[in-house]
Amino acid sequence: MNQSCHNFNPEINFLSELSPTEISWDQHRSMAEDLAVLYNRNIKFGKYADRINGCSGYLKFGVDADQGKLVLKEVWFCRCRYCTVCQWRRTLKMRAMMYQNIDKIIQSHPTHRWVFLTLTVKNPHVSDTRQTLKEMNAGWQRMVQSKRFKGVVDGFIRTTEITRPEKKSERMNVHPHFHAMLLVKSTYFNRDYINQVEWTDMWIKAMRLDYYPQVDIRAVKPNPRKTVDENKSKLHGAVLETFKYSIKPFDMLAYDDSGEWLHEITTQTHKMRFIATGGVLRGILKSDDEITNEDMIHITDDDLERSKDNGERIGFSYMAQYRRYVYNPKLNEYAEP
Ligand SMILES: [Zn+2]
Repeated sequence: MNQSCHNFNPEINFLSELSPTEISWDQHRSMAEDLAVLYNRNIKFGKYADRINGCSGYLKFGVDADQGKLVLKEVWFCRCRYCTVCQWRRTLKMRAMMYQNIDKIIQSHPTHRWVFLTLTVKNPHVSDTRQTLKEMNAGWQRMVQSKRFKGVVDGFIRTTEITRPEKKSERMNVHPHFHAMLLVKSTYFNRDYINQVEWTDMWIKAMRLDYYPQVDIRAVKPNPRKTVDENKSKLHGAVLETFKYSIKPFDMLAYDDSGEWLHEITTQTHKMRFIATGGVLRGILKSDDEITNEDMIHITDDDLERSKDNGERIGFSYMAQYRRYVYNPKLNEYAEP
């Protein structure tokens, strides 16, 4: 029998039933709850659990009269690095900032091209994450200062992602990697081309490795037979790859290890920066700590535009027993006359 809780209790109105696109709120908030449970398994991390439990407990929306849609207006975010709600909102904001910036960069550098680079090292144990990331940062610095790199790349945006290996014997390891979008000179695809083997060599040299790491290079080359929008969507694909969650919720919540991996990765990455920009792209993005609560509410300027309204608010509270947001008229606010 496929009956939702709604059928049993006519008093309950779920947010995702009133506005199906808002189901992401239920998904991310319920994962945050699971994350808080894991943080609570170790008293040292109880403060994270408390903050995450307080995150986005209620949502207040306005109504966009033209489109008849709910528009988010008010939420409190805990801003814990790995909170699933906060990571989601920050990632959306970063991507939106990138899409906007890319248009400007294309205008100011019309003949430049983009290349998408992924760099990895051997998987270390989770307790060596900090040391490994420091070495990778130092290696990256050496690589971007090399003559070969500087000769072709005029700007970069680089992010750090950490995944958790699936293999049973490696579950307390990490797979740290860099994703970089490189803005390369127009000569890159002919005279200055760097192939995958050479990129690997450059990374080995910069990192002073004695083994072959995995290095992936993909051109985001415009296809003259495609439309401007089609080519742009390729570039947007690279943005999606670059700006992902720094750690996927699944990896933090998986394998029933009482949160051991999560606790260690939290300590290891404390206050480390996961986004770097350089060359002509230096400073084009706000850093994680510069992203405000408002930024995480109004993802695009369109949203911000729509936020100028009459002050009417419709409230929803997260209810743990349903793992969903429920309409809560006590939070409503009414339009000023
Ligand atoms: Zn949060």
